[in-house]
Amino acid sequence: MKRYLMLAVTMLVAVMVGCGKNDSTGKKKAFISIGTGSMTGVYYPVGSAIMKLVNKDKTGVDIKAKVESTGGSVYNINAVINGDLDFGVAQADRQFQAVKGLQEWQGKPQTKLRAICSLHPEIITLVATDASGINTLADLKGKKVNIGNAGSGNRGNAEQVLKIAGIPLESFTAESLNAGECPKMLQDGRIDAFFFTVGHPAGTIKEATAGKRKVHFVPITGMAELIKECPYYAVADITATYYPMSSSKKDVPSIGMMTTFVTSADVPEDVVYKVTKTIFSNLDELKKMHPALSNLTKAGMLKGLSAPLHPGAEKYFKEIGIL
Ligand code: GLU
Repeated sequence: MKRYLMLAVTMLVAVMVGCGKNDSTGKKKAFISIGTGSMTGVYYPVGSAIMKLVNKDKTGVDIKAKVESTGGSVYNINAVINGDLDFGVAQADRQFQAVKGLQEWQGKPQTKLRAICSLHPEIITLVATDASGINTLADLKGKKVNIGNAGSGNRGNAEQVLKIAGIPLESFTAESLNAGECPKMLQDGRIDAFFFTVGHPAGTIKEATAGKRKVHFVPITGMAELIKECPYYAVADITATYYPMSSSKKDVPSIGMMTTFVTSADVPEDVVYKVTKTIFSNLDELKKMHPALSNLTKAGMLKGLSAPLHPGAEKYFKEIGIL
């Protein structure tokens, strides 16, 4: 009996999430979920910031948003397409690949994916212990290196830069850990280095640099070909002053891309309209909610998108005259 009751409650919750229903006053109420990343990454606090703003705003559709900690970009895109999540944070390169049917979506272009806007920039970040002697990508050979969990965006980035650098995955022990586990593994000496594509400053990186073992950032250079081939990549430096405990005292060159905010064509227009409006009309507040967001501009947030804009977002952008 209890089991059936549980099942009924679960089904009711499942029906309520992602779709609208009217409350006692007749006003439309919607429950939405936002997929992020590991809790100490930047997606999680950024998704939480959007959630707080949406839950506070009482105009239009009454939305109750919640965030979920997930495996990252690839997981979020797939969950949004499947309807398991309503919104997700995802790297611009992953959005591009899903829409074009590349990498994880090889031969299967994802037609339901919709873009809302870009958020903060992310950088492919390779963190290594000083003791490992890893100072270039070539030094990874023979070491124990985390390239990322299957649902992450960074796993594909690590594979791409290693391919360009001519370092086969078989030449080192490649781990598939979630980024959140890496600082401890690095500090415990159970891995020598880890890749994480993330905005800065990031909790994970602060944690990794703050332990007894000294760590530094490894430059990712020689990527001109990759940048030329892939419109979403750009050169970017990791700001050393964000991590005073790291042995890297100067900014470290790498490549990066934008973080984007995505949804599905199945999410109702009025819900996406309200979420978009909340983000853009509270931009000054949003920029103060995480240092990685501090340079956001309305114009910049319309760049780096490859999926079609969701009609709800498009409606808002036209209304404020930025489209
Ligand atoms: N870019 C990472 C990924 O897609 C997540 C970064 C973060 O959590 O801030 O897996």
